[in-house]
Amino acid sequence: MKRVLSGIKPSGELNIGGFGGALHPFVAMQEAYDCFFFIPDLHAVTVMQDPKELYRRSRDIAAFYIAAGIDPRRSVIFFQSQVAAHAELGWLMETQAHVGELNRMTQFKEKSDGKEAVSSALFTYPALMAADILLYQATHVPVGDDQKQHLELTRDLAERFNNRFGPTFAMPEPIIPTIGSRIMGLDDPSKKMSKSNPNVSSYVLMLDSPEDIRKKFARAVTDSEMSVRYDWENKPAVSNLIEIYAVFSGEPIEKIERQYEGQGYGGFKKHLAEIVIEKLLPIQQRYHEIVHSEELTRVLKDGAARAAEVANETLLKAKKAMGFVTFE
Ligand code: ATP
Ligand code: MG
Repeated sequence: MKRVLSGIKPSGELNIGGFGGALHPFVAMQEAYDCFFFIPDLHAVTVMQDPKELYRRSRDIAAFYIAAGIDPRRSVIFFQSQVAAHAELGWLMETQAHVGELNRMTQFKEKSDGKEAVSSALFTYPALMAADILLYQATHVPVGDDQKQHLELTRDLAERFNNRFGPTFAMPEPIIPTIGSRIMGLDDPSKKMSKSNPNVSSYVLMLDSPEDIRKKFARAVTDSEMSVRYDWENKPAVSNLIEIYAVFSGEPIEKIERQYEGQGYGGFKKHLAEIVIEKLLPIQQRYHEIVHSEELTRVLKDGAARAAEVANETLLKAKKAMGFVTFE
């Protein structure tokens, strides 16, 4: 059986980067995999979160999952903090991770850079992420480009654990979407589109209004060549826009290049905005219908129970393998 586990942190407002690299591929994966999609709220608190905002954003992400097309009857949707096995196996994985390995994680370097008080949890984050994945015996993990390194560490930890204590965990493979795995800022194509960028024009939020989306794409940086050509090395800003176009239209890159051949950027950017708006409108509508609903609460309660069943079984196996006294 092929099984997927992945999630989007409730650490900020969801933007089209998270949609391209995560949510959009999640929906398609339901066809071929047994899927667990969680809301990694324990990861979100590795950096300071306002409690009210964390609460709102957590339900928000869950609502976006469903609004975008994750079907709770087929896939398990749950909050990480509601399945205690995550924190527990996270601790056990910390005993397997080396400080040197954690030190090499570029995400830690980026997120701690220039900050005075950095939580120790931000440093050990990859051990918890390994636990998230290994608890479900996930065979496949869809990740954006930025999470590749963490997944490699997960594989190292799984292998180390299995070698020391006997076969316990499945070895997860990354699935990196070919299109949309690294959507960059609209203001600067050298930086990933990120919810933490203070420049609001750098990202398009899932809940942005049509006017805002039009404005943001109109302002998006391009280059002076005036040709819609996919070439990350020489034309990163335009390539990024083409990639967003491809994610939201479902059209292949070559077709988009052909369609805009010999034209400047004006029309291309206008059409791009309309394509994004058209895709987002029904998602936004469904999001508003469910975000405060009892239905969403029920889905999440049920999801936590289903997830805990699978997770607890793996946790018990791992604890027994390590030599803990268990009475089961
Ligand atoms: P944070 O800044 O708090 O890390 P984030 O925007 O990076 O937030 P995450 O929750 O860390 O969001 O990532 C969720 C998933 O979305 C991951 O698989 C990640 O690889 C993917 N992702 C995030 N941003 C992008 C992006 N700009 N392009 C493509 N994929 C992305
Ligand atoms: Mg991230």
